Amino acid sequence: MTGSRSGFDLKDALLVGALVFACSIFGIYTAPPGVLAAFWPTNAVLAGLLLRRQHPPNLLHWLAAASGYMLADLHMQHGWPKSAMLTCTNLMGVWVAYFLFSRMDADYQNLRHPRSMLRFVLVVVCAAAAAGVAGIFIHPVLFGGSHAYGFAFWFSTELVNYIAILPVMLTFPDLGRWMKAHQRRADWPGWRPEQLAPLAAFAGSLWLGTQLGGPGVIPYPIPAMLWCALTYSLFATAGITLFFSMWTLLAISSGTLLIGANFDSQQAIMSLRVGVTLTALAPLTVASVMVARNELLDRLKYAASHDPLTHVLNRGGFMQHADALLAAPQLMRRPLAVLMMDIDFFKKVNDSYGHAAGDTVLVNFARIAEGCLRGGDLLGRLGGEEFAVLLPGCSAEDARIIAQRVCDAFARHTVAVGDGKLLNSTVSIGVHCAAGSGTPVETMLSRADAALYKAKQSGRNRVECA
Ligand code: GH3
Ligand code: MG
Ligand code: MG
Repeated sequence: MTGSRSGFDLKDALLVGALVFACSIFGIYTAPPGVLAAFWPTNAVLAGLLLRRQHPPNLLHWLAAASGYMLADLHMQHGWPKSAMLTCTNLMGVWVAYFLFSRMDADYQNLRHPRSMLRFVLVVVCAAAAAGVAGIFIHPVLFGGSHAYGFAFWFSTELVNYIAILPVMLTFPDLGRWMKAHQRRADWPGWRPEQLAPLAAFAGSLWLGTQLGGPGVIPYPIPAMLWCALTYSLFATAGITLFFSMWTLLAISSGTLLIGANFDSQQAIMSLRVGVTLTALAPLTVASVMVARNELLDRLKYAASHDPLTHVLNRGGFMQHADALLAAPQLMRRPLAVLMMDIDFFKKVNDSYGHAAGDTVLVNFARIAEGCLRGGDLLGRLGGEEFAVLLPGCSAEDARIIAQRVCDAFARHTVAVGDGKLLNSTVSIGVHCAAGSGTPVETMLSRADAALYKAKQSGRNRVECA
């Protein structure tokens, strides 16, 4: 067991090292002349990767990451001392980012908490400052310039890279889980053409900036990015803000976007890079708040329409879903049935074995009834020990067979009530069938209720049809 675990760790660590090497080579070769659009994705990618893995990284992973940095720098013929200094500086920031993020709740780590962007900014400022502190020492040695400039350069570069890239890493969808949840083509999220409107507005505002020019054009895409944040997922918004930062810096450095400012001093370049990246925080914050709001709304909707004991629909939820089903055009001309089910002598169960045993019987009944139903059938707890089922597209004969199946399965089922005693309950069921979905659900239920009354009168533990 330990052997396979350490084998797995080694493979995992090698992957981390390889990714660090690949990102560094990418960063080195894609860096355009001048530092305005310089892009160093490795540190943010590594911090994100270490945070998203299931197991916390061990020494092996950190050593592999260090080797990845060293190999890339040696490949660029930086020599051992310079490569080692650059590697240490990169790793310091990554370690601080990892250390601080890994202490937060998952909600904050995945940016799904309304206040998560505040903590995110705090963490990346600390990580960038750690790299900046290393920069104080190495920058004058490697590149000349003052200690203060070393700090400012490394701090601003790291801040920009973390803010631009880390949100994408932290919100990257769990592909395995997504595939599991969307196995059938029908489960894939539907796309309507109007959903492309925010993206089109974003592209339009980028284009408008290139046409108008001037110092005010940098935040032009903000309204469109806010619209994207209100419409798309957090991950998509993170991708859009990353694109915004990179595009703006590249467009300015290549002359496509003329903002009329001079970037001949390092200070001006740093100011622009940090400013552009900070702009992206606004849409990210909105997207993060939206995720938290949507999750809360989903929970609220679920709580309002479900019974907390059995987790089937409550009366309100059942009626709402039943009305929606009856209004579906494809069900208009198809037969359908409703069942009214009432557990027999349930008061006696409570009186003899206690309320908790009664609750167990209710939960078990709901599970048994669910097990006897088809995918599109609707089960609800209308109140107390009364449950109802709507069977769309079900003939009278099939409805009776399903009802009998529930009745028999429940009669076979027992609940242990202590002292080795087993409690056995039964259910009575009334069935009503209709040729089409013209009758209101309340009317159908009251007809099924009349059949249920007949079942109770004829001795219980049976099915009667209206
Ligand atoms: P019948 O066979 O005629 O249906 O008799 P019954 O005893 O099942 O019917 P009655 O309506 O007299 O009793 C229903 C009981 O269900 C009374 C109430 O205390 C109990 N009950 C309602 N809700 C709950 C619940 O959530 N948990 C438990 N344990 N009991 C409940
Ligand atoms: Mg009853
Ligand atoms: Mg009852």
